[in-house]
Amino acid sequence: MSKAVFIDRDGTLNEEVNYLNDPAKFALIKGSLEALKMLTKDGFRIILVTNQAGLSKGKITLEQLEAIHSRMQRILLRNGIALATEEIFFCPHKSEDNCECRKPNVKNFKDAQKRFGIDAEKSYVIGDKTSDIEAGKRGGFKTILVKTGYGGSDAKFAAIPSHVAKDLLDAAKFIIARGAKTND
Ligand SMILES: [Mg+2]
Ligand SMILES: [Zn+2]
Repeated sequence: MSKAVFIDRDGTLNEEVNYLNDPAKFALIKGSLEALKMLTKDGFRIILVTNQAGLSKGKITLEQLEAIHSRMQRILLRNGIALATEEIFFCPHKSEDNCECRKPNVKNFKDAQKRFGIDAEKSYVIGDKTSDIEAGKRGGFKTILVKTGYGGSDAKFAAIPSHVAKDLLDAAKFIIARGAKTND
C-alpha cells in the first residue's frame, strides 16, 4: 500500500478563479511546484481531486476543462513533475445533483485509492475549503487546510483539520517533517 497526497485544485494548487474556463488564466500559487517536487521525492503519489460544478452549470465545457488540465500537466512536466491524467479526479456535478463524487463526498478518493492501492492512514487531503477537510475526514485521511484561496471561509462544514498551513508549500514541509519524526 502506498501513500498519497490528495490535493484540491482551485485555491490550493492554483489561484482561485470563479469557474475557471480559460487555460490562459490558470496560474499556480507561488511555491506549489516546490511542494509537489518535495512530496514526490518523499514517495507520495500526487492526486488531484476537484469539484467542477461549472460543467453541469454550463459555465465550462469538458473540452475547456481538458485544455486547462493539459496546460497544467505541461507546466508541471517542464518542472519534472509527471501528473498523469489518471491521477486527476473531477466531479462534474452541482450540489443539487446529489452525486457521490462531489466533495465532501468521497467517491473520487475511494476510486483513486482502489486504482493506486493507497493507504488512507499514511495519506493526506489538502484543500482550501471546509468541504475538502470534511471529505478528508470521511475518507479516513489526515487533513490540512491551507489559507490560500478560500482559506476555510466557506465555513460550510465544522470538520477540524489535522493541521492548518499557510499554503501548499508550507503543508508539504509539515508533512515531510512529520514523516521524518515518526519514521514512517
Ligand atoms: Mg479549492
Ligand atoms: Zn459528482
